Amino acid sequence: MFGNAFQCVISRFKSPQKIVNLCFIVVFLFSTVLTWREAVVLEGAYVANQRNSLDNVATLLDRQLQHSIDNLLFYRNAMLYALESPISTDRTRKSLADFDTFRTQPFWQLRLDLNRSLPMSGVSDEFVRNSPLLDRDDQTLHSELSSALELSYIMRLSDRSGTLQQRMFYASRSGFFLTNTPPANDPNIVSLYYRLIARPYFYSQSPENNPKRALKWAHTFNAGATTGQIVTASVPLDFNGRWYGVLALEYPINSLHNFLQQAKYDDHEGTVLLYDNELNPIASSLEHMPTHSLFTDPQLARIANVVTSAKQGAQGELRMDSRFITWAKLNNFDGLLVKVHTLEEGVQGEFGRISIVLTVLWVLFTLMIFASWIVIRRLVNNMFSLQQTLSWRANYDTLTRLYNRGAFFEIACKLSRECEQQGLPFSVIQMDLDLFKSINDRFGHSSGDKVLTHAATMLSDAFRTGDVAGRVGGEEFCIVLPDTTLEEATKVAERIRVRINSKELLLKQGNTVRISASFGVSSADEFSDYDFERLQTYADHRLYKAKQNGRNQVCHHD
Ligand code: GH3
Ligand code: MG
Ligand code: MG
Repeated sequence: MFGNAFQCVISRFKSPQKIVNLCFIVVFLFSTVLTWREAVVLEGAYVANQRNSLDNVATLLDRQLQHSIDNLLFYRNAMLYALESPISTDRTRKSLADFDTFRTQPFWQLRLDLNRSLPMSGVSDEFVRNSPLLDRDDQTLHSELSSALELSYIMRLSDRSGTLQQRMFYASRSGFFLTNTPPANDPNIVSLYYRLIARPYFYSQSPENNPKRALKWAHTFNAGATTGQIVTASVPLDFNGRWYGVLALEYPINSLHNFLQQAKYDDHEGTVLLYDNELNPIASSLEHMPTHSLFTDPQLARIANVVTSAKQGAQGELRMDSRFITWAKLNNFDGLLVKVHTLEEGVQGEFGRISIVLTVLWVLFTLMIFASWIVIRRLVNNMFSLQQTLSWRANYDTLTRLYNRGAFFEIACKLSRECEQQGLPFSVIQMDLDLFKSINDRFGHSSGDKVLTHAATMLSDAFRTGDVAGRVGGEEFCIVLPDTTLEEATKVAERIRVRINSKELLLKQGNTVRISASFGVSSADEFSDYDFERLQTYADHRLYKAKQNGRNQVCHHD
């Protein structure tokens, strides 16, 4: 059943070239679709890889930041406990007494124990009075100082060995500060304290600016430079409705920069950039922070738009020119990690290499298909024309281009049967060239062939559509005439005879010859017999008679 259907489809394409073309187009499309599917899978894997690689950096950074923030909150709790129930020892009482003597000096330093605590550095009453944000409240001052002295023991133990180098400090509104990187007891204390309370992180923690009293991130932005810039995480310290000061953690940009460089594990992995919440670049995984922004303002606006409109998830990706951009929000930082992967880096990376191999394979396969298409097409063309030639030769005589004996007999028998069935007349003309042997003898065999070809052409030109002629012997021809009576057939034979004899034929070396032929005509009517072979024999008898009567004539009766 399938075989028949297949044959049916095949037979619609008459020319085998079309089938070959169709097969090759199918193979080409199939290989292209397969390659395209592979490319889509590869692209999905690439996107997942880019996301993962940025996610790793984000998780690592978040973990570091979380650790620091935990510390910050731990210190705030320690201060709150100390404020709630301050410890009063001889040492604290002595330190507080020292403070009362120092408090009018431009700068001072207090320390409980030389080795086990950090020094507290401060400024004068006058400095505090001149700053509207500051307030040295004598009611709470001693308990705050003794709490800060307690904190100095704990802060002394703070671990600064992490990847992110950090400075931790408590900046009090009462005109002093405590830090794990204590300064010398010199006039610099005044400018250090001034810098601590003048920076945005400090006033952003006032009850008006931070009513929720939440942790805040601030970035002192200084475009282009990696040194001097600082990212600060801060929490306010409030007790009994009073804002005491701010506990803060500082990351110098260099430390973030180093962190991003260390987090990068492959040169072809692209560039990771850390942006603050206003999309100002903070740090990058490049050796030096690029002097020009990697993005134009409209491109940054597009990134901001994508990030804000991303409803779910804290990460995503977008394409920008030939760059692939992945972004991830950080849990513990009010900013954004952005990864830029350029086409050049992509090509040099693992996925790029696989893509190149895939493309090369596709190109090679396509070339192979193309080459085999050309070869097979040529082969099929040759076979097709060979088959045509063979089938032509099986039916035709190559010299006269008339039907050969076998094919002619088959057609003639079929026509005679049809005429018999339809009750139509049917006639046969048998023709033989006169004295042909002498032409061969006089002018050679090739001249004889020429005469044969000429006679066949005359014959073909003279008979009517529907009549069929064939070469049935050396120089013998036969014509069948369906729907033709003996009388009409005789006229046709006469016409052919006249035509053949009318012209002189030019042979080799300027010799000319006028040829003639003799004809025998028979018809199915006169014998009431439609058998072609018998009718041909009758016609042959009459032809013999024509020869006997002197040749170049038509004989249609016995
Ligand atoms: P007649 O008028 O009695 O028919 O005389 P004739 O010479 O035609 O008679 P005959 O049948 O004896 O000769 C036929 C010759 O035709 C014999 C043969 O050499 C030649 N012949 C047969 N086939 C071919 C052919 O394909 N090419 C050539 N050149 N000659 C052929
Ligand atoms: Mg002859
Ligand atoms: Mg003969």
